[in-house]
Amino acid sequence: MKRRNFIKNASLTGVALAVGNTLAHCATNSPKDNSSSAAVIDKKTKVPLPLVIATWDVRQSTQRAWEELKKNSSSLDAVEQGCKIAEADKKNQTVGNGGRPDRDGHVTLDACIINKNGNYGAVVDLEHITHAISVARKVMEDTPHCILAGKGAEKFALENGFKAENLLTEASKKEWEAWKTKSNYHPKINIENHDTIGILAMDNNGDISGACTTSGLAYKMAGRVGDSPIIGAGLFVDNEVGAAVATGLGEEVLKTVGSFLIVELMRQGKTPQEACEEAIGRIVNKPDSNYKNFQVGYIAMNKKGETGFYAIHKGFSMSKFNDDKNENLPSDYYVK
Ligand code: ASP
Repeated sequence: MKRRNFIKNASLTGVALAVGNTLAHCATNSPKDNSSSAAVIDKKTKVPLPLVIATWDVRQSTQRAWEELKKNSSSLDAVEQGCKIAEADKKNQTVGNGGRPDRDGHVTLDACIINKNGNYGAVVDLEHITHAISVARKVMEDTPHCILAGKGAEKFALENGFKAENLLTEASKKEWEAWKTKSNYHPKINIENHDTIGILAMDNNGDISGACTTSGLAYKMAGRVGDSPIIGAGLFVDNEVGAAVATGLGEEVLKTVGSFLIVELMRQGKTPQEACEEAIGRIVNKPDSNYKNFQVGYIAMNKKGETGFYAIHKGFSMSKFNDDKNENLPSDYYVK
């Protein structure tokens, strides 16, 4: 919605604009009401809210998250619903149902979610459940814990009404069988074989949440856990500052605590773009970095609704739904 229309709506509904450099909130409705929302505009940056960004070309996911936000739902609902689209898509071989298996042929999922208050829930090494992100949310909301792993996570999911399914599709099974004949049983590390879906959203109240979900590195060793479900590595949200989420070779993101780093850099005044570039810099500038052989990409948003994204290699992209436009934007990258 254009600013002009927002002002018109605001005067009709009694919505008040907040002052200073804070966001102008749609103050009459808190997220979760189902009443229709006016777009909200940051006074300084003129960025209209809501705002959704995601790793890679997942415009169906950003669309779904956007629909949720336009109903005035919370950013938490939006990121969960967006992830669920990718998890249910059997053609997406990097997330949820249809994901590529570990080297023993088991599809094991990692996911985590962080809400506006900095609460966090995660599942690691979860089998047989498509919507790992929803199980992660349940861990956050309904248990005293942050992370459930493996069989315990699966048991918790089944007890909470999730359905057990075979997540190994024929297509992923065929590829795995072909890989086994030449692989010598070594996990494969290259630029192409991983893609986490990470989503960050800011709702009409200006509150930020984030989520990410993945089947992890294809043909990983059994029991391997990547960055994606680990707070501060694959995902970090600080509703005072902003949020960041990673994709790519999880081991490198873990070692540099990438998402936390980006949020802390933004806290110190860097833009999301500068912060993403510096986090990639930390990886490629390590003395023994093998960065030519793997990909890492970051996306970030700050509290003003500014966004940034950067990767080691060409090919990364960010989906962005804002101001009624759902776009996929190619990322700048380090190896030129
Ligand atoms: N970061 C994920 C992992 O390493 C996979 C990916 O994003 O490609 O588990």
